Parts: sequence; C-alpha cells; structure tokens
Amino acid sequence: MHLGVDEPVRECQYSQVCTRNSSPMETPHKKRVHTRKWQVFPGRNKFYCDGRIMMAKQTGVFYLTMVLIMVTSGLFFAFDCPYLASNLTPAIPAIGGVLFFFVMGMLLRASFSDPGVLPRATPDEAADLERQIDASNGPSGPGYRPPPRTREVVINGQTVKLKYCFTCKIFRPPRASHCSLCDNCVERFDHHCPWVGNCVGRRNYRFFYLFILSLSFLTVFIFAFVITHVILREYAHPPPIPPPPQ
Ligand SMILES: [Zn+2]
Ligand SMILES: [Zn+2]
Repeated sequence: MHLGVDEPVRECQYSQVCTRNSSPMETPHKKRVHTRKWQVFPGRNKFYCDGRIMMAKQTGVFYLTMVLIMVTSGLFFAFDCPYLASNLTPAIPAIGGVLFFFVMGMLLRASFSDPGVLPRATPDEAADLERQIDASNGPSGPGYRPPPRTREVVINGQTVKLKYCFTCKIFRPPRASHCSLCDNCVERFDHHCPWVGNCVGRRNYRFFYLFILSLSFLTVFIFAFVITHVILREYAHPPPIPPPPQ
C-alpha cells in the first residue's frame, strides 16, 4: 500500500503545501510503526487483504460488469468457438482467451488498486495549517466572513491556485479533486467509475484506459466471429429450397 506512514515521502513536488510534520527529513528517524494511514483515515473505501486491495463502498455495479463480461465471453467460448476452431482456425479461441484474460486483469487492477488517494492531514498538521491561514487572513472580528481558502503557488513559472479541502484539511494539488462517494481527495482525479467500483485517478488511470481499450477489442472480436459463425453455417447447410407451387 502506498499510504504507509512509515514509508518515506518520495517526492514533495508541492513543498509549499507540505507542513512540518510531513517533512521527508523527519520520517526516516521515526520509530517504525505499523499503523497505516488507510487505517487511520479510511474515508468511505473498503479494504481487503491487509490494505492491498481497496474499493469504493458500493461495489454492486462492479460485480455486474464482471458477470456481463464473463457471461458474454462464456457463451462465445461454449457455442461459437468449437465450430470456428474446427472449421476455420484454432487461433480464434486462443486469441479470444488471451484478450479475455487481459480484460479481466486490467479490470481487477483498476478496481483493486489505489487511485491516488491523498493522505489527510493529521490533527497536528491541520492545526498548523489553520494557524497559517489565520495569520495570513489577519484578525477576524465578529461577523467577519473569511475569504475562500485558496493558496497560490508557482509551478514551472505558472501561478497555480490551490483549493483547500475542508474534509481532508489539506490544500489540494492541481487537478486533484474530492470524491464525494469515497470521501477522499484523489490526485489527478478523472471520475468515480461505478462500473469499475473505484475512483479513476493518477495511479490506476493506465489500467482503466487499457481495460476500456481491450474491452473494445474483445467486443468487436466476439461480434465479428459470431457473425462469421452464422454466415459459415448458412453456407454449410443452406436452407432447403421450397418446392415450386403446383
Ligand atoms: Zn478532500
Ligand atoms: Zn470515488
């Protein structure tokens, strides 16, 4: 799992956002603890296999996706492949099988992996950030409404505005967004996909993309060879010519 507190922070691209407690210099000297961040801040995700598998809370549509793919492919392998293998080429079930396992593999990788959840701030970090925000906003009197919480940072010479997430208590990096269904901020958030049963973000985008691509190939492949099967049968056993009318 990528969210371990004992794992050294590999890169701190957004150093302006990092508070002192998450400094990469401090982490290696800490005593190694076995509490993971997902155990402290699980959001609304479900975790299995000691945190190696994470999914959204509602996974009903994901099982429907699996059943749809397996039933369609199963019918193709059971009823079309034996005829096509003996009358055309045995490569058809072989290619179909490889495609099917690739599709299922990519679906499971996209569904079970961490989409790029940004760890929430610890109470210390949140309090520190609150103090910084209050100091930069100036004294607030009664009836004073604080401005929306944003922070500007310069990335590659471009000024980028970071928004504050009130749930996660962090300034979100650019293109990160809070998934309301999983209740977590996700880096490079694309969307929450109920078909896959997970958010699609930085860490599982490639698996999601390969899943969609290979599923398109599998669909076209099955459709093309089902049509071929029907046509071949039609030619092999042409329907009897009706007798001419008397
Ligand atoms: Zn958030
Ligand atoms: Zn989500």
